Amino acid sequence: MSEKEQVEKGTISIHTENIFPIIKKWLYSDHEIFLRELVSNAVDAIHKLQHVNVIEGLQIADDYAIDISVDKDAGTLTVKDNGIGMTADEIRKYINQIAFSSAEEFVQKFKDIEDKNQIIGHFGLGFYSSFMVADKVEIRSRSYQKDAAGAHWSCDGTTSYELEEVDKEDRGTEVILHLSKDEKDYLEPSRIREILKKYCNFLPVPIRLAGDVVNDSEPLWIRSASEIKDEEYVEFYRKLYPLSDDPLFWIHLNIDFPFNLKGILYFPRLSTEFDVTKSHIKLYCNQVFVSDNCPELIPEFLTPLQGCLDAPDLPLNVSRSYLQNEPQVRKIREVISGRVASKIVDLAKQDRDQFAEIWDNIHTFVKYGMMRDDKFFDKVKDQVIFRTTAENKYTTLPEYLERNKERHENKMFYANDEAAQATYLRMFKNQGLEALILDAMIDSHFIQFLEMKQKGVTFERVDADVTQNLIDEDQGSKLVEGEDEKTADEKIKTAFEELLGEKKGMTVRVESLKDPSVPAMVLLSEHTRRFKEMTRMMGKELGDAMEEYTLLLNKNNPVVKKIRAMKEEGRQEDARLLGQQIYDLAMLSHKAFDKEQMEDFLERSNKILEMVGTAEK
Ligand code: ADP
Repeated sequence: MSEKEQVEKGTISIHTENIFPIIKKWLYSDHEIFLRELVSNAVDAIHKLQHVNVIEGLQIADDYAIDISVDKDAGTLTVKDNGIGMTADEIRKYINQIAFSSAEEFVQKFKDIEDKNQIIGHFGLGFYSSFMVADKVEIRSRSYQKDAAGAHWSCDGTTSYELEEVDKEDRGTEVILHLSKDEKDYLEPSRIREILKKYCNFLPVPIRLAGDVVNDSEPLWIRSASEIKDEEYVEFYRKLYPLSDDPLFWIHLNIDFPFNLKGILYFPRLSTEFDVTKSHIKLYCNQVFVSDNCPELIPEFLTPLQGCLDAPDLPLNVSRSYLQNEPQVRKIREVISGRVASKIVDLAKQDRDQFAEIWDNIHTFVKYGMMRDDKFFDKVKDQVIFRTTAENKYTTLPEYLERNKERHENKMFYANDEAAQATYLRMFKNQGLEALILDAMIDSHFIQFLEMKQKGVTFERVDADVTQNLIDEDQGSKLVEGEDEKTADEKIKTAFEELLGEKKGMTVRVESLKDPSVPAMVLLSEHTRRFKEMTRMMGKELGDAMEEYTLLLNKNNPVVKKIRAMKEEGRQEDARLLGQQIYDLAMLSHKAFDKEQMEDFLERSNKILEMVGTAEK
């Protein structure tokens, strides 16, 4: 053929002059995506051939694959596929015209965008992105069509190209990049492998680098959940996050309607309540990696979720602003929150002990989610569990209320610091009363939220008041025969008020507690305490003026009785010593002592030890 020797020289149809320097400069930070673009084109070319294969019944049997190779001496990187190929005419059309028009569109759009970072790496330049790293690009291609001649195109980064016919034995396309001086690291197979792992790891066609397949062309998420074993899910997770502990649970999405969404999301094991840095799901579009920074895709309260989402309906080159405004993205979030809720319900129904283990890791997010998302709240509300002092197990609220309804209807007792509230918890336990342990940061908000949602149900900290269950109605405090109960109480009260001196905000109350071992308790009403906590959280410190509390004296306690007697016998100093010690001990669970208070407390303790020690005969 005479034509074969002819080289066609032409000018690429473009209205923006010198597009290449612009592309190079603007895409500077994200050069590596050229490889994703070229490999995606190669995958497309193979898919197209598979498609015509079916339609036209060509029966081309082939081991479809993409080969990537580097030639250090020549300074070239080649991406080769055995897909549909292009004729010279198709190169004119698709490469010179169409591909260029999208590159041009990019330049136009780029001019209008204020924040250039928004677009870098998120706009598909397709084939022409290869000019970010290459001075010259060649295409050698032969179409699948019978008797098609090979075509060779080359362009050195100006707007002119050369096109000629060549001999090419095998069907498909080779794109040869002559890497520019600054981009020689793309000649390193390790660098290429790294990029392929990042963007092309789950592409559906085998991708070979120097003959070795680097990708997993059948990622787990495209398979049907019913045929996947738990171990396979865990193994897939380990591949994605080699340094992490095994996940707590996962959900497998496989949705066709009303939109397409596939993926596997894992809830990781978190080292602390606030360890949310692990986040980052990987977003794919038809198995091509798009981004691992798309927080818009999952509900805010589920940020720790990891794994892969394949959303073929979203464009390959999504930008953050696109995600923020796209209604479909909101639907994706809803689907995920719904599926996580169902998973939690399933787990809760299976095995309480196992669920309790998972719960410790997830409860903060679940509670937060319940406060943020009504639908989520409705789905999981009956599964929320709390640690309880009853056999140190976990309980749901309905279970707790049912168990305790005879003794305190619609009221939940709780402690938020087991050590500080130990005395109260012990008294509860001795009387067979049950308290919940709500010691997470979020719990104080969460119980307030629950009270609002479930009208009539209230939470009360164990030291907020003494319940009738702790009080012994029959016991008296009579010291003197014939003295009535009221006078006796009054005498204890005034004795202590005098011994302790003026204390701001303190009210003294005398009760007869069933447990005689506790001399006194400090009670801070639930309302006052919550108000205090709230103001503190808003950064304000309340003055002592607001501090109103009750000192409850147990007239059933022998030392309390003794103190009154001492006072009446005129042993004023001994009575004061013991009275103040009782006060300090009760106060200890409410606030930390300052230096002076601590010194007083220790000195007094030593004196009491001395008294006890020397009193022995
Ligand atoms: P896009 O892939 O978004 O269409 P590109 O600029 O990457 O844009 O490519 C333009 C066109 O060139 C493609 O649509 C396709 O028709 C053709 N093309 C690119 N690479 C190949 C290839 N490896 N094999 C066959 N055709 C290709």
